Amino acid sequence: MTRQTTIALIRGDGIGVEVTDAAMEVVNAAVSRAGGQALVFSEIAAGAGYFQQTGLDIEQDGEERAGDADAIFLGAIGLPSVRRPDGTEIAPHLRLRDRYGLYAGVRPVKAYPNAPQRLADPRAAAIDLIILRESTEGLFYSAAVHGRGEVIGDSEARDILRITRTTTEKLHNFAFRLATRRKDRGGQGKVTCVDKANVFNSMAFFRKIFDEIAPKYPDIAHDYAYVDAQALNLIRQPWESDVLVMENMFGDILSDLGGGLVGGMGMAACAEIGDEHGLFQPAHGTAPDIMGQDKANPLAAILSGALMLDYLAERTGLDAYAEAARMVDDAVQAGFEANRIHPMEFGGNMGTKAVTREVLAQIDSAS
Ligand code: ATP
Ligand code: MG
Repeated sequence: MTRQTTIALIRGDGIGVEVTDAAMEVVNAAVSRAGGQALVFSEIAAGAGYFQQTGLDIEQDGEERAGDADAIFLGAIGLPSVRRPDGTEIAPHLRLRDRYGLYAGVRPVKAYPNAPQRLADPRAAAIDLIILRESTEGLFYSAAVHGRGEVIGDSEARDILRITRTTTEKLHNFAFRLATRRKDRGGQGKVTCVDKANVFNSMAFFRKIFDEIAPKYPDIAHDYAYVDAQALNLIRQPWESDVLVMENMFGDILSDLGGGLVGGMGMAACAEIGDEHGLFQPAHGTAPDIMGQDKANPLAAILSGALMLDYLAERTGLDAYAEAARMVDDAVQAGFEANRIHPMEFGGNMGTKAVTREVLAQIDSAS
């Protein structure tokens, strides 16, 4: 008997709950259609609502259970009205990221037909790139989990930009493996190191390690861009990019730019991968302005579900999960191609459930 594949499911707050339900419905349907072993869900209560009720931001054994699962799926967490007495936000997912060393933040940026396109150039239809954001150190190192940098009286403040060899080697290897997998599916086979190596020691070090790793992957091309030039390129010719690997804060900024390029936050999927763990979530927040109204675009969550299936395929060696991942991606693509997906986020008339139904119908009708 094969062992079960378990998913730690953290719905969270606001639209996180709605889009998680949508994504898991689609994931389950695809796995079943692909003839795969059904996923087993282990639900973990967490978030701002849970904090209000209990004083805890995640269930007592929630972090451990999340770590024991084959993958973690997270909706979104936090509500502006709920804060700790010291004013900080409710963010147990940042502890998960730290605890399980989820250093590789994968943010796909892909154009779909009939979805909003910000660039007039017809080549923009071919945008299909990945922003790979280091997610545990860089300039965020001194924020969030490790406490802030330092404030000296009222005259000066400092933060730390920390780049370690261990994490950077893993990150760059991840980038080249990702480009290799994408090349097998028709991708460009290129990794661009995005940095500011002309100004910072830390960034020169980041690039030096990139140069050490690149020769291990002779089938994959590599080049470099300073982050400011890369920002310009993401507007001028984003179709030229494949995998862009970068430090934490640069990735934070450029991934929002990427999301904006291809529609909006409702299209922005995200995976956070470590050595032994993977967490999957839409890149957007809880969107309190539209929560509970069936207005959220579930596609970011659904596409994050596809990333999770791909990860499960690698982790378990079960081809059915890879097949299911392809089915979900293809269903979204086919729905847009047939001009049948019109989320309210883009001014259309389809709420969360209607978009989900259309994706399910595309999975059903795929040959
Ligand atoms: P966070 O701090 O968690 O990143 P945020 O303040 O950046 O959150 P989001 O919750 O990501 O804000 O969303 C910003 C706005 O974008 C929302 O208020 C909402 O109007 C819109 N939005 C975000 N996600 C979606 C979605 N899936 N569908 C439709 N609209 C969305
Ligand atoms: Mg945000």
